Amino acid sequence: MSAIRRIDGELWMEGVRLAEVAARFGTPCYVYSRAAIETAWRAFDDALAGTDHLVCYAVKANSNLAVLGLLARLGSGFDIVSGGELARVLAAGGRPDRIIFSGVGKSEEEMRAALSAGIRCFNVESEPELERLDAVARAMGVRAPVSLRVNPDVDARTHPYISTGLKGNKFGIAHHRALAAYELAARLPNLRVTGIDCHIGSQILDMAPLEEALERVLELAAAVAARGIPIAHVDVGGGLGIRYREEETALDIGRWCAAVVARLAGSPYSLVLEPGRAIVGNAGVLLSRVEYLKLDKDRRFAIVDASMSELIRPALYEAWHEIVPLAAPDRPEALYDVVGPVCESSDVLGTDRRLAIAPGDGIAILSAGAYGMVMSSNYNSRPRPAEVMVDGARAVQVRARETTGSLFAGESTLD
Ligand SMILES: *Cc1c(COP(=O)(O)O)cnc(C)c1O
Repeated sequence: MSAIRRIDGELWMEGVRLAEVAARFGTPCYVYSRAAIETAWRAFDDALAGTDHLVCYAVKANSNLAVLGLLARLGSGFDIVSGGELARVLAAGGRPDRIIFSGVGKSEEEMRAALSAGIRCFNVESEPELERLDAVARAMGVRAPVSLRVNPDVDARTHPYISTGLKGNKFGIAHHRALAAYELAARLPNLRVTGIDCHIGSQILDMAPLEEALERVLELAAAVAARGIPIAHVDVGGGLGIRYREEETALDIGRWCAAVVARLAGSPYSLVLEPGRAIVGNAGVLLSRVEYLKLDKDRRFAIVDASMSELIRPALYEAWHEIVPLAAPDRPEALYDVVGPVCESSDVLGTDRRLAIAPGDGIAILSAGAYGMVMSSNYNSRPRPAEVMVDGARAVQVRARETTGSLFAGESTLD
C-alpha cells in the first residue's frame, strides 16, 4: 500500500497533512505510517496462512520502539543482529521465543544475553562461532538452538554493497563446508541443531535468485538430514526489493510466499522469513526544508536541511529516492541537485530532479522507512532527527530530536 497521497496539491500520510507534521515537529524529521507497516507485515502473514511459519522482521531496517511495538502486537517474530537490537525488541514487548539472532560477529556477552532471554534460534555463520556458542552455553548449563547460515553462492543481482550470497563474501558458511559444519554442530554437546538459513542480499527485484538459493538450501537440508541430523525449520532470509521509482516493480510479497509454500509442500520443515525493507521501506518519509537555491552556471543546487547524516543511502550505494514538495504553490519549475549542508561532495540526496520549489518550502524524501534513521550519524555534529508515527488522524512523536548538548555529554577536555 502507498502511505502517501496528494490531495488538492498537499501531501498527506493517512489522515495527516505532512506540512503540518513538519511545522509541528520541525525538520529534518522521519515520519512512518502505522497502516503501511501493518499492511506489509500482514501481506506476508496472510500469504502464509495454512503453513507453519514465523515472519521475523529484520530489526536493523528500522528499530524504533514504536515500529517494533506495532509488530510485536501483531505477533511478529524478530531477526536481530546485536545485543542492542535484542534489548530493543524485549523493551518493545517482543516475545523472546520468536527472536532469531543473525550476524557474523556475535560476542560472548551477546550470546549470554540471548541465551538468558531464551531466544528461538542462533543463526550461526562460522565454525568458530559454533565452538564459542557451545562453550558459552556450557558455562550457563543450557543448550543453544542453532541454525547454520549457508552461503548458497547465488548472485542476487543487486548492488554489490548489499549482495551477501556470493563466494568471497564475509557472510555465511561456504556451501561446500556446510555438511562438515553441521556434523561439528551435532557433536558439540551444548548445541541443538534446529534449522538452516540463508540470506543472499537486499533490494532483490527478481525472484529467480531467491528461488535458486531456496533450491540449494533444500538440497543441503536433505543431505544434512540424511546424516541423521534433523532439520526442523528452513529460514529463507529477507531481501525482497521495494519500489523506489515509478519504473520499478517491487518483488511481489504474495507471489514469493506462494512460491516458497509450493516448494515446501509435503516437506517436514516449518518456515521462517526475515523481511526488513519490504515491511518498512515504503512506510516512511524524511521531511526536510529548502534552505537555499544556489544557481551556479553549470548546475542548480537545492540546499536542504536534511543530509547524508540523516539518510546515507544515496551517498553509500547510489540509492535513488523520489523527492517531492509537501505543497504545490506556484513556483517556477527547474532541474536541481538536492544536496545537504554536510561538508562532503557525496552529500547528495538526489541529482537532476525537476522541482517547483523556493527557499522555506517543505519537501519529502520518499521510501525512507528502511535503512534511513538506523544508519543516521552525528557527522558534522548534527543532532539526529525526530521520528513521528502517523496513526489515522494522529501524529505521535516516537523519538525526540537529539539536543546539541547530548552530542558531547559523554566527552571531556583534559584537566
Ligand atoms: C539485513 C538482513 C535481513 C533483511 O534484509 P531486507 O533486505 O531488509 O529484507 C534479513 N536477514 C539477514 C541475515 C540480514 O542481514
